[in-house]
Amino acid sequence: MSIPPPPHGNPYAAAPPQGNPYAALPQGNPYAAPPQAPYGYPQQAPGYNQPHQMPGYGQPMAGVPQVPACRICAAQPAAEVTIRSHVGLLLMMRFKKWEGPFCRTCGTALRRDAAANTLCQGWWSPFSAFLFNPYTIISNLVVRGKLNKLPEPGPAVYGTRPDPGKRVLQRPVSYVALVPILWFLYLFIARP
Ligand SMILES: [Zn+2]
Repeated sequence: MSIPPPPHGNPYAAAPPQGNPYAALPQGNPYAAPPQAPYGYPQQAPGYNQPHQMPGYGQPMAGVPQVPACRICAAQPAAEVTIRSHVGLLLMMRFKKWEGPFCRTCGTALRRDAAANTLCQGWWSPFSAFLFNPYTIISNLVVRGKLNKLPEPGPAVYGTRPDPGKRVLQRPVSYVALVPILWFLYLFIARP
């Protein structure tokens, strides 16, 4: 028994089909839109096939008021307010601010924290005590008036809102600055 010799040459060397096998496909882009919109849809105006190409896209709609949404929870209504805090420590001063819009709940939470910290830390340099801290306190009182005029916000689009917590004057930290004042009064006035 003998094995027949392999055929001469490389059996895998069969000649590829001549020419481009894809050349038989129809010419042009088969996914191109038909020249006519089917079923009687009106033809789109040329140049306006994308929304961002339409006139007025991204512009406020005429007659529709622009209502600001809360920066934290995205709810409405919200007020354009800037909440501030101030720290004065002898030669160092620090100013912070949070720009809205904020809804009533989120804005009140931020404002109470900022106001309590300001009452505690804002007095301890001369310019702070007589200039920057009174300004910060009054500014936050104006913010409080604006926020309290808002109705309760709608559902929180972004999930959670900060907790407003206790009122500023119900937080012990707000009274820290009174300690040296009372001590001063005790030393120089009340003591015989
Ligand atoms: Zn909010």
